[in-house]
Amino acid sequence: MSSPLHGDALLKALAEVGLALQPAQTVDGVVNAAGDGLRRFGLSFAVLERDGELTRIRHANIPPEVRLRGASPFEGMSVPMSQLERVAQAGRGALLIGDVRQETEKFYERYQPGLVGEVPKFIDQASFQRVAMQTLFVDGELWGGFTLGSPDLAEADVPAVTLFGVQLNAALQRVITLQQLEQRRRELEAVNAIATTRLEGSIDARKLLEQVAIATGSDAAAFYTYDATANEYVMVEPAFGTSTDVQATFRRFTPPDDSEAGVLHLTDLSYGREVIEAAGFTWFGYVPLKAEGRASAWLGLARKRLTGYTKAELATAALLGVQVNAAVERARLYAQLSQRVRQLTLLFELARSGVSAREAGPLFDRLLSLLVDNLPCDAAALMHAHGTELLLGSFRQRAGSGQPLNPSLPKTPFDDSTVTGQALRYQKAMKCTIDDAPERSRRQMLAYGTRHMMAAPIVVGERHYGALLVTRLTDLAFTNADLELLESCSAQASVLVEHMQLFDDLRQSYSSLEKAQAEVVRHERLAALGELAAVMAHEVRNPLGVIFNSLTSLKRRAAADPESALLLGIVGEEADRLNRIVGDLLDFARPYEAERSPIEIEPIVASAVEAAFAATNAQVKVVTQVARELPRFVVDGHLVRQAVLNLVVNAIQAMPKGGTVTVKVSAQQKNGSAAARIEVEDEGVGISPQTEKHIFQPFFTTKATGTGLGLAVVKRIVDAHHGEISVRRARGGGTTFTVTLPSG
Ligand code: ADP
Ligand code: MG
Repeated sequence: MSSPLHGDALLKALAEVGLALQPAQTVDGVVNAAGDGLRRFGLSFAVLERDGELTRIRHANIPPEVRLRGASPFEGMSVPMSQLERVAQAGRGALLIGDVRQETEKFYERYQPGLVGEVPKFIDQASFQRVAMQTLFVDGELWGGFTLGSPDLAEADVPAVTLFGVQLNAALQRVITLQQLEQRRRELEAVNAIATTRLEGSIDARKLLEQVAIATGSDAAAFYTYDATANEYVMVEPAFGTSTDVQATFRRFTPPDDSEAGVLHLTDLSYGREVIEAAGFTWFGYVPLKAEGRASAWLGLARKRLTGYTKAELATAALLGVQVNAAVERARLYAQLSQRVRQLTLLFELARSGVSAREAGPLFDRLLSLLVDNLPCDAAALMHAHGTELLLGSFRQRAGSGQPLNPSLPKTPFDDSTVTGQALRYQKAMKCTIDDAPERSRRQMLAYGTRHMMAAPIVVGERHYGALLVTRLTDLAFTNADLELLESCSAQASVLVEHMQLFDDLRQSYSSLEKAQAEVVRHERLAALGELAAVMAHEVRNPLGVIFNSLTSLKRRAAADPESALLLGIVGEEADRLNRIVGDLLDFARPYEAERSPIEIEPIVASAVEAAFAATNAQVKVVTQVARELPRFVVDGHLVRQAVLNLVVNAIQAMPKGGTVTVKVSAQQKNGSAAARIEVEDEGVGISPQTEKHIFQPFFTTKATGTGLGLAVVKRIVDAHHGEISVRRARGGGTTFTVTLPSG
């Protein structure tokens, strides 16, 4: 170590070191330049920095070999201000402290009694035997001070030290002012950046927080908004400058004071200390963002530096926080409004297409396109409900959005294994992601590369009509607002489909009314025809009676003349035929009203078959099959006999070459009571489709001697019973007539 400096030499040395301070840009830069310079001249140097009511000791040039038990003697120690205040009171110049050893021992007794014995050695080695102490002021306030030591520092050296102190103070004031200006510039930049943040759907919260962090000299920043349901403040993601660990630990925030900003040191934290320590943060600031005098949100700041937040820094944070809050709020309103507009547009479009739609197909095509374009989503589909299964109906897919949907997707059951099934079972819109999807949906999502899915039920009346299904391939999750929109669409679609079905029903009932009207007209025509026929028949019957009487006399007279007898035979046959026609006509024309009573049907059918046989005397077999334990049917026995007779006669006539007629009688449950079912089967010539259309019309016949009234009468009898008649052509020729007559 060089010999002690005095007088001019000291002055020169101090002036040289003073000059070296000028290029420094930071407080540390100034202190280190001073310390390094002074050490070269064998002078000891330490800076004391004021920290509230304490001073922190900052050693600038204690040589590394001069340590107390390996540690710098004052490192990390804060002591009361008293010493510096004493110097300050003495004036602004340096104050010589001659007996440093005594002072220092007093100091150690108080703060580190275990090291008191080592103090003399340290004092000597560090050249602290005698020191000059001087205060430093920044912005007119006591900032701290410094000590400059030398083994034989004299009173005469004090002015030189004072001069050096002035230079040091000027350098400090300069760097601190520079820092303040720089800080101010950053603040203004941040305010500007935040105030001009553009409002488009979502704002970049992270970017805003970054600005706040820069402006407040923080390494991390987070924004908390009030969550009314949990009654606490919750972090708005994303935060700036923190790891997910830290974010997870501090996702929720409960302010120590309800409306005041504050500062916390790492050691004040009641939880999450390890996480924070590992992340390197030391100080935290929290600032309320007030609306109507109450904190509506909080700004959280964290820094890794050793110095905590000052009031001024917190005030800056509060100012910026208000801007961030406003920007977040504006963005939220904007998003809400645009969502609402989107929703109304979609519903309006749907309603407009619904007004003109008469069929569900085009309506759903339109709806699916609207969903793909406006929701938006990558694919939208209508799933049709079929019994207990769902089938893919129409679908729309955004061009180029992944694998095309397979139109022949397997049916999915109507249960909890798919999100569509759930939507239908629980009658509400559902959404899921690939991570929480029900099993079967998850497999489909994996197959199609879909990440998000929503489904909403379509219920028409009481019936499950189907479900709407929409999917997204991207990471963008469906929001609750999206879910509500889909639900509105499905509700609207349900109403539209219901309207269409009502419209259809109406159309159908119109057409059945039309049919009924035509039937009435036909009935009236038949009634008029019947009346005419009855009069005609009556008029024909009288002359016929005369003809028959005369024929009997004539046959007797002409018995000897074979030629006359032949001719009279022909006349007789034709008169018979005429008589039969008149009989049929009268049968057909009389009013048919069923006089019902409980009857046993078997004897009635047997009697009809017998009569038919007698009337035709043909070479056919008639088999009657009657079901066992038939109930009594409440029908008109006479009319039933007549109907069966006519059908069996026709069946026999249809088999000129012989064959079998089978008459089957059974009971059939109809509207809660037993109806009589009579089938007449033949193996005859059959009926061509052309003929079939006309067979029930009166006077329609294909037979040379037919009257065309048999089936017309059967039809009237069936109608009188409110029953049904149908014709079936058998494959190998032959015909089956089936008559069903309800009881009562
Ligand atoms: P008709 O027996 O006097 O001809 P119907 O009203 O009884 O009058 O029958 C009308 C027509 O229906 C018949 O002419 C015949 O063409 C057809 N038809 C009725 N029953 C049968 C049958 N079992 N097989 C084939 N054709 C039949
Ligand atoms: Mg007939």
